[in-house]
Parts: sequence; C-alpha cells; structure tokens
Amino acid sequence: MNYLYYAMELAVENVQQGGSPFGAVLVLEGEVISTGVNLHHRCYDVTTHAEIEAVRKAQHKLQTDDLSACTMYASGMPCPMCLAAMYFVGIRNVYYAQTLEEAETVGLGTSKQIYSDLAKESAQWHIHMVHVPTSHPEDPMKLFQQMKGE
Ligand SMILES: [Zn+2]
Repeated sequence: MNYLYYAMELAVENVQQGGSPFGAVLVLEGEVISTGVNLHHRCYDVTTHAEIEAVRKAQHKLQTDDLSACTMYASGMPCPMCLAAMYFVGIRNVYYAQTLEEAETVGLGTSKQIYSDLAKESAQWHIHMVHVPTSHPEDPMKLFQQMKGE
C-alpha cells in the first residue's frame, strides 16, 4: 500500500467536507494502525491536526505512550505541534508529500512561521514567553518525583 497516497486521499476527502488539506496514516509493522485528518473546522479544537488525531487513536487503541515502532505518513509536512506530539510518543520516522511552502501558497503559512521562530532565540519569537521563577509550598516537580518513588 502507498501510505503517502492514502494520506493524500484522506486530505482530499477532508477538503471536500470543508476541512483543511491534511491527512495522516500511522503504520505499525506494515499495518495501518490509525488515520487522521484535521478536524478543527468541525470542533473548534486547534489540536485536532491529522497527525495528532492519528497518534491519539493509536494510543487509545494500543493503550500506550510508546509509538516508537510506528511510522507516520502525512500528506503535508507536520507542523511543530504535531512534531512535538510525535517526539512525545517516540515516533522516529516521518514521511510527507507536500511542503510547508506549498501550504503557505494557499494561506496556511503558520507552521513555516513557527519553525522560523524556533530557529531563533526565544526573545525574537512572535510569542512573548517570560520565565518568572515562582515558589509554592508544594513544588509540583518535587512532588511528582516523590510520587514516582525516586
Ligand atoms: Zn499539525
């Protein structure tokens, strides 16, 4: 099976249903474990990108946080949010069919801007992010460490 072609097909169907032009197919040992398309046109949830949807379904199906044995096939180059999600579940191989530049030409250039920001010092990002050290009687990081028994 041509998984990238399948991802493109999902993207086309999603556009035909009023959504964004993105589809994703997650493969484990030669089998499609899950698929996803961008759904935020239906549910106003910006995290419902194709790749995250595919990851979410696979995690639910396999009941695991470890998808390191899976390969992602995405119709478009994954955005930084989806990239981060794939980092969190250990996915190491991603194939994509369309570029950030192709997305930008149809008005979907945010991913390219975010990647550009991430290549700079945080002070130059479009989001103003400030570290403000704040103490609390119960340090959540230390509490987490204790709860884990370490
Ligand atoms: Zn994304």
